[in-house]
Amino acid sequence: MSHSEAELVETSANETPASEIAGQGSGAEWLSRYSSSLMGVFGTPQRVLVRGAGCLVWDADGKEYLDLLGGIAVNAMGHAHPFVTSVIASQLATLGHVSNFFTSPTQIALAEKLLALAKAPAGSKVFFANSGTEANEAAFKLARRNGEAGKRSKIIALEGAFHGRTMGALALTAKEAYRAPFEPLPGGVVHIPFGDIDALRAAVDDTTAAVFLEPIQGEAGVRPLGTDYLQAAREATTAAGALLILDEVQTGIGRTGKWLASEDAGIVPDAITLAKGLGGGFPVGALITFGEAASSLLSAGQHGTTFGGNPVATAAALATLHAIESQGVLENVRTVGAFLRDGLAAVDGVTEVRGEGLLIGFDLDTDVAPAVVQAGLDAGFIINSPGPRTIRLAPPLILSTEQAGRFIAALPALIQTAKDAK
Ligand code: PLP
Repeated sequence: MSHSEAELVETSANETPASEIAGQGSGAEWLSRYSSSLMGVFGTPQRVLVRGAGCLVWDADGKEYLDLLGGIAVNAMGHAHPFVTSVIASQLATLGHVSNFFTSPTQIALAEKLLALAKAPAGSKVFFANSGTEANEAAFKLARRNGEAGKRSKIIALEGAFHGRTMGALALTAKEAYRAPFEPLPGGVVHIPFGDIDALRAAVDDTTAAVFLEPIQGEAGVRPLGTDYLQAAREATTAAGALLILDEVQTGIGRTGKWLASEDAGIVPDAITLAKGLGGGFPVGALITFGEAASSLLSAGQHGTTFGGNPVATAAALATLHAIESQGVLENVRTVGAFLRDGLAAVDGVTEVRGEGLLIGFDLDTDVAPAVVQAGLDAGFIINSPGPRTIRLAPPLILSTEQAGRFIAALPALIQTAKDAK
């Protein structure tokens, strides 16, 4: 028996929250179902989260948390931001997906907006992906297209680099534990010491296709590269005819109190990759290529994606950028970030504080960072430990001074609890 379109639509046309379709349960019940239905690549999730508002989230047992990780630098405008939410919903209710045989006004407007924010010169272009690793995958292909085939086989990345988990991005990622199980990875990538300008100058030569850099290494514990290094990289790559590709997946979109962390270096790279904060929680990635030469390296048919740049994703990003711009968020990031870093530096047991804006890493005097994360959860704070003695914070960019102060006040007890448990 067949149905008319109206009948099929009608059966689902009521206002049903997703939680009604997914069902209800306690945290423990959900986690038991998780472990029997989801692949174990992430280990056991710390909590089952069901709701968010601004910088707060709630778990399935009703416990409230101050989210100081923001989905790992993603939820730029916090959770359930009314403007971002309504733009996404209205775009979805108007036109949700069309494939890249077609385009849409939000896709074009977002590309133009990103080129303007990046102060990209004439001839610059954008490619939309769905994640950071995909944006870097596109950048990897761009690098391969630089120079005559085979003659520029070397791609340079840094020790400590994290560029993603798909095969090309994984080849750029330094961590042995992530790479080794998947060898052979795409070839030609060499990793040079972090922050060593002489090593960079020695490595970049006329066989180099590209240099990939994160202005601040996030996964390595929030390690800033510095403007001198970025400028030296621009000089060396220009002289050698290599591309300079900046991975601003974690540092971009206001995270450091500027649209791009690399702004202060005053350089024009050949490409920048973005994701994380761009969609304000909706999956969007982007590759920006600077100038005609870089932008023409990938031609028709050489790359593609079904979802990349879809109307809802690009509407989400437009809404996020608009909200950041119209609500003075970059200034908030600078103010609250400075307050947070100063406060953390004064806490007993904290030996170093790094980062810019609201991308902050701090080291402890003992290897108790994972236990501090656990103590934080018990006390209602979501934080992250990228290393045994390093804590990372990447909260929503709308974090208030009061909320930052609450964490600073709680931290000594969290460190003590972690040390007592050791
Ligand atoms: N590049 C950087 C600098 C990142 O921090 C990340 C993720 O943490 C990625 C790339 C990969 O992004 P995604 O997880 O969206 O694939």
